[in-house]
Amino acid sequence: MNARFGETDFTLVEGDITHQDTDAIVNAANTRLMGGSGVDGAIHRAGGPVIMQECKAYIREHGSLPVGEAMMTTGGQLHARYVIHTVGPFWHGGEHGEPEKLASCYRNSLRLALDHGLKTVAFPSISTGVYRYPMDRAARIALGTIRDFCEEHSGLEEVRMVLFGEAALKVYEEALTAEKDRKG
Ligand code: ADP
Repeated sequence: MNARFGETDFTLVEGDITHQDTDAIVNAANTRLMGGSGVDGAIHRAGGPVIMQECKAYIREHGSLPVGEAMMTTGGQLHARYVIHTVGPFWHGGEHGEPEKLASCYRNSLRLALDHGLKTVAFPSISTGVYRYPMDRAARIALGTIRDFCEEHSGLEEVRMVLFGEAALKVYEEALTAEKDRKG
């Protein structure tokens, strides 16, 4: 399913984030950039040790990466040249700033891509795995934030969301239909 947000093509696809051929893929990381399960583990396995070396160097220099922030490493052996690491919020019921923090993940990742002159970026569904953010709510925030950013900034050719499994794709497709109805 596709949409046009400003000058940017937006696409929803089912698949594996590590297989994407975009300039950058986004990692659903943790504040210590330690790797782990889900997207994070898959990216480090597929990309090889250079990504972890760069993450460790970043932590030594800057300390932990706060929730909602983003940093970038190279992509190692991945098709993507870069990995943008961002830390999603853990779901504590929605009254602890989760929506704002999740929106910041998408905004700061897109800004980082734009600042480095990248044209194409692929996101996983941040926070909806181990961090337990309800997927329908996360989808609304992801799509609304990406749309607002692309309508305010030119330079990105494609933003892709890569959903793991048919059920996740369907949730995002419904959210995209609602988003189109909301803003036309
Ligand atoms: P978080 O800790 O931010 O919740 P996870 O990696 O646990 O991140 O999960 C985020 C989402 O990514 C989940 O919906 C999960 O199903 C999905 N996911 C897991 N592995 C992959 C993958 N290889 N490619 C794309 N999405 C994935």
